[in-house]
Amino acid sequence: MPDYSSDFDGDTVVVTGATSGIGRAIAIRFAEAGATVLIADIESEPKDADVPTAEYIRDQGGTAEFVQTDVSDADDIRAVVEKAREYGGVDVMVNNAGLFIGGSLFDISEEEFEQIHEVNAKGVFFGCQAAAEDMIDRGVEGSIVNMASISSFVAQRDQIQYDSTKAAVKMITRGAALELADHDIRVNAIGPGQIATEFIDGWSEEAPEKASTDGLIKPVPAGRAGTPDDIAGAALYLASDDADYVTGEVLMVDGGWLTI
Ligand code: NAD
Repeated sequence: MPDYSSDFDGDTVVVTGATSGIGRAIAIRFAEAGATVLIADIESEPKDADVPTAEYIRDQGGTAEFVQTDVSDADDIRAVVEKAREYGGVDVMVNNAGLFIGGSLFDISEEEFEQIHEVNAKGVFFGCQAAAEDMIDRGVEGSIVNMASISSFVAQRDQIQYDSTKAAVKMITRGAALELADHDIRVNAIGPGQIATEFIDGWSEEAPEKASTDGLIKPVPAGRAGTPDDIAGAALYLASDDADYVTGEVLMVDGGWLTI
């Protein structure tokens, strides 16, 4: 595992959806690499751990603060970026928060469609906007990492409302990368495959079993479900100087799922 500690010393990193799952792992890894981390989440209590993320990081000697944030509200996102100014401003923005609502084309209500798009797509758009405004104001060559999915590329049954949000994340990433290249701000995304979290209730229990069988649409070539840490490593890489010439990319971290 690369050592990124010198890359993020003194940096401020905002991670949305960092109370649980993938976002929590990303926040902890950035803190271990020297960053001050703002945990921007609608929930303060983790679904999958006993100690809230910011408290855990502080217990380990790091610097972190929880900021109650609903990413579907652009004012909330601007408020967390404003909060980051107290620590010097946003150097890295990770737009990770997301939710899942399953159901067929005929099951989904207008409210459910709006809710999932407001969190998963609108939240990422305004996360990019708020972070980029702050970085440009301060003349910082920052980095933005968005959470896409295998669903950005393939349709899965009963997920049309979710898949369409993740396709939007892919194009928000590419569009923002194009526009922000003039300011030396890089924008990339990660495309996780089947990651064992509580994203869908009970999925963390089922995922390792299902990943290696054809219980899903198809088995994962790597023969296992991914872990939140698999995704955290990719986030640190994309935000690091090692990725200085990488922008507009969706880095798949899916154990080879999209290759077959
Ligand atoms: P999770 O449910 O464990 O974590 C999601 C986090 O987002 C939670 O802390 C939750 O409180 C927060 N959140 C939800 N709505 C929010 C809102 N309106 N404002 C702020 N925070 C909010 O799920 P996860 O698996 O860690 O998912 C994280 C991201 O990864 C999501 O964008 C998801 O779409 C994506 N993803 C997950 C998988 C997977 O298999 N788990 C695969 C592909 C992509």
